[in-house]
Amino acid sequence: MDLNKIFADAQEAFLFYKNLSGKEKGAFLETLATILEENREEIVPLAVQESNLPEGRINGELGRTVGQIRLFANLVKEGSWVEATIDPADPNRSPLPKSDIRRFLTPLGPVVVFGASNFPLAFSTAGGDTISALASGCPVIYKAHPAHPETSRKVADCIHQALLKTSLPAGIFTHVEGGIDVGQALVKHPVTKAVAFTGSHGGGKALFDLANQREEPIPVFAEMGSVNPIFCFPKKLANDIESLAKSFVASLTLGVGQFCTNPGLIFVPESQAKAYEKAIAAELNGIASAPMLHPGIAQAYYDSIQFLQSREELRWVKVADPKHLINGSTALAEIKASDWLKDNLFQKEVFGAFAMMVVYQDQNDLLEIATKLHGQLTITIWAEDEELKDQLFLLNLLEEKCGRLLFKGVPTGVEVGFAMQHGGPYPSTTDSRSTSVGAYAIKRFARPIAFQDMPEELLPDALRDGNPLGIWRMVNGKWEK
Ligand code: NAP
Repeated sequence: MDLNKIFADAQEAFLFYKNLSGKEKGAFLETLATILEENREEIVPLAVQESNLPEGRINGELGRTVGQIRLFANLVKEGSWVEATIDPADPNRSPLPKSDIRRFLTPLGPVVVFGASNFPLAFSTAGGDTISALASGCPVIYKAHPAHPETSRKVADCIHQALLKTSLPAGIFTHVEGGIDVGQALVKHPVTKAVAFTGSHGGGKALFDLANQREEPIPVFAEMGSVNPIFCFPKKLANDIESLAKSFVASLTLGVGQFCTNPGLIFVPESQAKAYEKAIAAELNGIASAPMLHPGIAQAYYDSIQFLQSREELRWVKVADPKHLINGSTALAEIKASDWLKDNLFQKEVFGAFAMMVVYQDQNDLLEIATKLHGQLTITIWAEDEELKDQLFLLNLLEEKCGRLLFKGVPTGVEVGFAMQHGGPYPSTTDSRSTSVGAYAIKRFARPIAFQDMPEELLPDALRDGNPLGIWRMVNGKWEK
């Protein structure tokens, strides 16, 4: 594999592709969405076979992937995402005349994307990272995940077909296979301008450090998962104990617990702990174990459980049974808040259907927990409205710790839309200012540029007089269209 050739092609493609209109980029993405749908019957069985995930889930994931592509196609066709901003000149200003300054977002350049094992479609080859980078105008060099190579090749082929059909250069998307050394070489290559990653904390942090050691450091948008705590308040639990046990277990065990938004930590008041634990245990008993994504992930799950079993602070309500290693069985352990607070290791993600139930005594416990809690993708609060009236300080602390704060429902099930935030303070991601799901994901791969006194005929369409694209722009401090 000649990496220099791959990056030379990507850079050449970039200089052409970045200048295409939003309509042209949108047409390419729409073509890709159609091609993926036309290939559903081939893609779905491959992904099912390689991921051990059920057909219904994979079918849904392909629908999500295609929907996501269409969302970005519409976003770039509409065009306002570039944040066009114009401060007109004022030649009569004294003591000095004012220049004409026009600013918008321009794509960064070639982006390296690492796909996730747990979403072989929606967070992989044509997943959110790849598509948001392509939508912004950046070519993508995609590092395939070894857990689903055939699925990845097939989807890459669909992307190449879409490029061919819309007469775009092949260098806009390159599919690369290989191990850790290949991934690191992609991140180190001087032409790479940004990295997007979904996976383990170890992998994401290693790539982040590598990118910062380069002669030219580059941004790394690594989504590294979290434990997504749920905070339960006494009245809410007392009122809805059965249904909250059902919701919790359904979310915990969805996809055999292999979601970055899986609720692995739940804070329960002492007054309700026994009753809630009983209700959860009853639900867990009805869940059969199911195959995990690959043997390595199953092994990592059982290793983590085994380590936790050596900790005497934990009382096991249900122990995972590694009889058939590939199968992930559910597990639940209980711990006092005072013990949980003493060791950061109890905050570590266990990727699978395991949860830790932390029993708190009072408000002081809650405030200490919120202060020591690590950064999360999500935090969920289950409380009656009246229980939250005096909790503004706690909420204030919790807002600092997550990217999405939920007051109903469960954290699994991330909507793809305009307002979604899927990212959070470290260690859940390496850049809390960004999201990897939803329309704002596109902003990760663009940077602002300002043109000062640029001749009108040279300006990009988004910044021209008369607003030929008809997009939302801020002109002289006011939004207009
Ligand atoms: P992973 O081990 O982090 O691997 C993801 C991708 O990153 C793979 O392509 C892998 O390369 C590459 N990679 C990992 N470490 C690297 C390094 N030091 N340098 C260069 N490249 C590196 O994730 P996984 O295989 O999907 O699952 C393993 C664990 O990740 C799970 O047990 C779970 O804890 C966590 N996980 C988290 C999420 C999440 O949503 N945040 C999703 C899935 C998994 P190779 O191809 O060479 O292996």
